[in-house]
Amino acid sequence: MPQLGFGVWQVPDEEAASVVAEALKAGYRSIDTAAAYGNESGVGEAIANVDRDELFVTTKLWNTDHGYDATLRAFDESAKKLKLDVLDLYLIHWPMPARDLYVDTWKAFVELQKDGRIRAIGVSNFQPAHLRRLIDETGVVPAVNQVELHPYLQQADLRAFHAEHGVQTEAWSPLGQGGELLSDPVVTEIAARHNRSAAQVVLRWHVQLGNVVIPKSVTPSRIRENIAVFDFELSGEEMAALSTLDRGDRIGPNPDEFN
Ligand code: NAD
Repeated sequence: MPQLGFGVWQVPDEEAASVVAEALKAGYRSIDTAAAYGNESGVGEAIANVDRDELFVTTKLWNTDHGYDATLRAFDESAKKLKLDVLDLYLIHWPMPARDLYVDTWKAFVELQKDGRIRAIGVSNFQPAHLRRLIDETGVVPAVNQVELHPYLQQADLRAFHAEHGVQTEAWSPLGQGGELLSDPVVTEIAARHNRSAAQVVLRWHVQLGNVVIPKSVTPSRIRENIAVFDFELSGEEMAALSTLDRGDRIGPNPDEFN
């Protein structure tokens, strides 16, 4: 899985083909979409022209499709829209603990992977308790957990659980959705020192921590800027300074309560 990919949340279906084409031109090879984003068709159109072996495509099962049979149907629908015979990574978008169907959903994921329809299966927004249950009840460890993660929400406990169980941490909203974080003085001072943008410094912090990141932008210059983070390095001191920014601030919902 490429360590840096392109996220397409909030990109309308009719714009997705051109925005993703821009990202492909800039060198991205990993695209992160979801059934809920309503743009799998546009993404499918953009990737149809690229050598399949060079692409890594992720999509996610939406909350209303939890359950064994519903999952199989939802997967077929997503694969059809993306025009893919084999998907690289399929994620359960949210655990929805109050509905209590994520274990059955996971069993369908395991089956789809056995059938060769998906290369890797994972989850999103799972807390340690949800991960532990999947592992205990099915014996199959998710390859990836995609969670909200940025310098204001560093998820230390979850990252430690991932490291212990061999789950890859993937950061959504890696730039904190481009808000206050990108004008935080700690970030902008480091950026000035390296002659880089604040967004590049934050993405580089993720990369050095070992996170997979999927920044989103529809602006061509930013799309290019966000992938240009592999030719500079933050010092130990700079990494430590960025680590002091953690304040447990979620932008999105708490997965334990989102149903
Ligand atoms: P992000 O942290 O990637 O921020 C994107 C926003 O930051 C842009 O809309 C823009 O306003 C700004 N931005 C981007 N590049 C910039 C730059 N170089 N300089 C200044 N500002 C810049 O936020 P996101 O879109 O929420 O997250 C990225 C991806 O993560 C999504 O597109 C989606 O694929 C995924 N995601 C997944 C979940 C989930 O529940 N699994 C939830 C949210 C997002």
